Amino acid sequence: MVSTIYKFYYKNGLQFDFPNNQRLLIDGKSSKVPLNAQTIVTHAHSDHFTFMYSTPNTRATQETIDLFLCQKKPSGSIKFEPVNFNEKVEFLSSLDDLDIRLIPSGHILGSASVLISYKSKNILFTSDIGGKGQLTVKDSMKVPKADILIIEATFGSPELSFPSREEISMDILKWSADVVKEKRNVVFFAGKIGSAQELIKMYNNLTNLRVITHGEVTPVSEVYQKHGIKLEFFDSKSEEGREILRDGEAIVIQPRGKKMVPFFIKEHVNCRSAIVTGMASRFQYKDFDAAFPLSSHANYAELVDYINTVSPEIIFTMYGLEKKLANAITNELKIEAIPLREKKEEPNIQQTTKISYVKKEKSLTRDQQDFNQKKDLPLKKDSKKVTTLDDFFSKE
Ligand SMILES: [Zn+2]
Repeated sequence: MVSTIYKFYYKNGLQFDFPNNQRLLIDGKSSKVPLNAQTIVTHAHSDHFTFMYSTPNTRATQETIDLFLCQKKPSGSIKFEPVNFNEKVEFLSSLDDLDIRLIPSGHILGSASVLISYKSKNILFTSDIGGKGQLTVKDSMKVPKADILIIEATFGSPELSFPSREEISMDILKWSADVVKEKRNVVFFAGKIGSAQELIKMYNNLTNLRVITHGEVTPVSEVYQKHGIKLEFFDSKSEEGREILRDGEAIVIQPRGKKMVPFFIKEHVNCRSAIVTGMASRFQYKDFDAAFPLSSHANYAELVDYINTVSPEIIFTMYGLEKKLANAITNELKIEAIPLREKKEEPNIQQTTKISYVKKEKSLTRDQQDFNQKKDLPLKKDSKKVTTLDDFFSKE
């Protein structure tokens, strides 16, 4: 009889239950955190930091803490514990063999994946991971080997592969050059943390055009500056910013979720608008003059590349298109992949550990040709089959 070493599941965040009643909760979706839980926040997008409002001693990178505080002021005195990349996170100390580290995920400033080593097995939770060639990620993405991979699936479908970042950037610049020639302002609706700063940096690097930031984009961009990312921009409400808007030929960056037309567009209607989102690779956006698939997330081809580098033996998918990604991984990469769905009730041990998987035939490589050849390999179901997660941890 093999004993359960630990279990993990997705309920109000990603939870790991270790022996001795020790619990780790990552990116909780509720401000109510179990008393015995230690908490980590991977990055400063609002769908990941809910419990930072209420939980003392949440671990996160200093960049994530600063980006959180520039958006929200928690009531009372909440203490955060900054953690450097690649350093051991000191908690759950009663477990000798446990090693938890944050590693750069290349998604936005300070964003982290979580690498957990316990009883000589590695489990990697990617959280949100970035694509190639980002301009404003200070610490480039690190991709370690792991036995178990829990990967995000925001763009986890083969039809969501975008052109390269360089191609998208050139499309954006060409389109905005035409708008500016007409003495109009260009207004981008972009994610306020990540894509907004990418756009500022791109215009700073490649043009002389002046960038105006919406009141919600300005403080975020200032945190990027504080952490060493050089960005030049003017706040839309500053005197200088208003003057530039009146002149025309400005690049305006505002949060994507904002439906209200801000004052500076009302005052300066001479503009063309574009939305910036990875979904622009798949959908048309009627309310905008243009749409560009620039994203802070890895696209499908980049997710496949990431998986090949990690070379895991079993994969769990979560966030977004988790079912589609799991199917694609199982069919194309011949690695068993299971969607990790949010559970209403806390699962019991039997539910969480009875997970079958098939050991892959050989190590995968980044070589695309090799990947294509694997499409034709049959899924092998024979003596290598492991029936439970306990078996997985106990095997050599
Ligand atoms: Zn994110």
